Amino acid sequence: MTLFLDRDGVVNDEIRDGYVLRPDMFHFSEGVLAAMPLLAKHFDRIVMVTNQRCIGRGLLTVAGLQEIHAQMLQQIELHGGRIDRIYFCPDLDNSSPCRKPATGMGLQAQMDFPDIDFTNAVMVGNTLSDMQFGKNLGMQTVFIPSTRPEVSFPHPLIDQRCQNLLEFAQSIQ
Ligand SMILES: [Mg+2]
Repeated sequence: MTLFLDRDGVVNDEIRDGYVLRPDMFHFSEGVLAAMPLLAKHFDRIVMVTNQRCIGRGLLTVAGLQEIHAQMLQQIELHGGRIDRIYFCPDLDNSSPCRKPATGMGLQAQMDFPDIDFTNAVMVGNTLSDMQFGKNLGMQTVFIPSTRPEVSFPHPLIDQRCQNLLEFAQSIQ
């Protein structure tokens, strides 16, 4: 099975009306470092798919993003977890084919890992755009209400609702 993971608001605390622009602005959300090794046991592929419009806006360079991700991966691996590949969309334009809810990052992941079967995959995110991305590819969806607690459930785009990533990881053990 493959896990598609959104970043901001799922793995790290989302910065309201702003972006994570430096490693010291990246803070893991509660339970995430405990969740990652559980997810690593369950999923044979874990990929991150993240919209990072701050790059298109010129607020962050690709090298700067990679520095933030290197620190994130180091912490995850120290705790026994892993992320196999990170895909990001730097584009400003909502109509970009790589910007969720468009499917570009998922299709790129499947090109890189041809064994990815979307009907046997889960998308975890904190926005309806993430849920739409998952559904556009035929995945199961898990909604984390970290920043949008008002989203109702049951919801046609949402298959499961978990308070945080650890609750999801524990639900599938
Ligand atoms: Mg998010």
